[in-house]
Amino acid sequence: AHLDRIGAVDDAVHAFLHVSAEEALRTAREVDARRAAGEAVHELAGVPIAVKDVVVTKGLPTTAGSRILEGWVPPYDATLVERLHAAGMPILGKTNMDEFAMGSSTEHSGYGPTRNPWDLDRIPGGSGGGSAAAVAAYEAPLAIGTDTGGSIRQPGAVTGTVGVKPTYGGVSRYGLIALASSLDQAGPVTRTVLDSALLHEVIGGHDPRDATSLSDPATGLVAAAREGMTGDLSGVRVGVVDELDGEGYQPGVRARFEESLELLRGAGAEVVRVSCPHVVYALAAYYLILPSEASSNLAKFDGMRFGLRVEPDEGPVTAERVMAATRGAGFGAEVKRRIILGTYALSAGYYDAYYGSAQKVRTLIQRDFTAAFDQVDVLVSPTAPTTAFRLGEKLDDPLAMYLNDVATIPANLAGIPGISVPNGLSDDGLPVGFQVLAPARADARLYRVGAALE
Ligand code: GLN
Repeated sequence: AHLDRIGAVDDAVHAFLHVSAEEALRTAREVDARRAAGEAVHELAGVPIAVKDVVVTKGLPTTAGSRILEGWVPPYDATLVERLHAAGMPILGKTNMDEFAMGSSTEHSGYGPTRNPWDLDRIPGGSGGGSAAAVAAYEAPLAIGTDTGGSIRQPGAVTGTVGVKPTYGGVSRYGLIALASSLDQAGPVTRTVLDSALLHEVIGGHDPRDATSLSDPATGLVAAAREGMTGDLSGVRVGVVDELDGEGYQPGVRARFEESLELLRGAGAEVVRVSCPHVVYALAAYYLILPSEASSNLAKFDGMRFGLRVEPDEGPVTAERVMAATRGAGFGAEVKRRIILGTYALSAGYYDAYYGSAQKVRTLIQRDFTAAFDQVDVLVSPTAPTTAFRLGEKLDDPLAMYLNDVATIPANLAGIPGISVPNGLSDDGLPVGFQVLAPARADARLYRVGAALE
């Protein structure tokens, strides 16, 4: 049914870069056979899933949305993909994204934009717009995204889906094509909070192949979602982050947010205001730390090891000239912009002033959150300042594009988990997201509060 749906709507939505129909059907038939033989199977066995194209999949093309990886077929599976296979979940295909996960609209994909199923003239968010659009358009019941600065949560907000960024280290990064290694985290994109909890429990857990994988990751996620579904939040202390609820937010986004605070109060939660003063510097720190790490991570795309190789039009074919020609042709404008920013920020003489300062700001933001979580159990804010904007609207203005992530980036800098749950429609009839943040390893709280809001 999902493959049929993809066939019917994906020409218009363009959520998928690759559809793996045969592989998906093979897995589905295997699960059917195991069930028929009376074997116990996982409760998500046979439930199909779409996977963001930044996650490597053995035998399935993986491009991270970049022309530089066109035609590359990985020889191995990411740990999270191994876990999907182990649960018997058919992989429907690979979803579109901003190139190397840099962007907030999926317009920076090397393969053309994805469109928001709510209004095809609008963006589905980014970088994981493909995964969110696939779920919103009923092309897939579940999807995997990655979130470095909001790429799961912001697409969730603007497509009316649920998106979860787990605690840093909660889901293995082995087999994710790295954007910024200290910020990247994979997580669920679904239509309900319970679905996200179920999927999170499949993909999460310690992995010895990821050096930053937690040895004691979050547990009890499904149980917490079920507890939240009772609608009772007695005793839960909720903090509204002062710095994430003000200027620049669309009136309809603010109105829905206020209504949800009332809902939380009605469910028995205590709602207070808290201040995280350094959060206002998160965007600036992020756009030094992320390009720095990305410029280093992307150095491996050199025309020698993976995908595209372009030789210079004329003159000698030296390694350096092949690298320059390949990177010049294979990377898009946003990727080049960030590589230049990152190499500049890391260069001798500037390192302390830019990268060093940004790391100090990061520590201050972490301390703000630690102090806030001494007072409250969860923090809340709107997920994104506006609803989905029109395609092309912010393409020529990188700073306006970056501003979409003001509310999501702080969690990545602090390594804490966050969820975006659908929060009704704004005055323009488009979906709005409600964000819940919890302390590291307390992912269960996201599911409890998130489910109570549904
Ligand atoms: N939009 C943010 C950026 O462009 C977030 C990206 C992400 O989470 N992968 O960096």
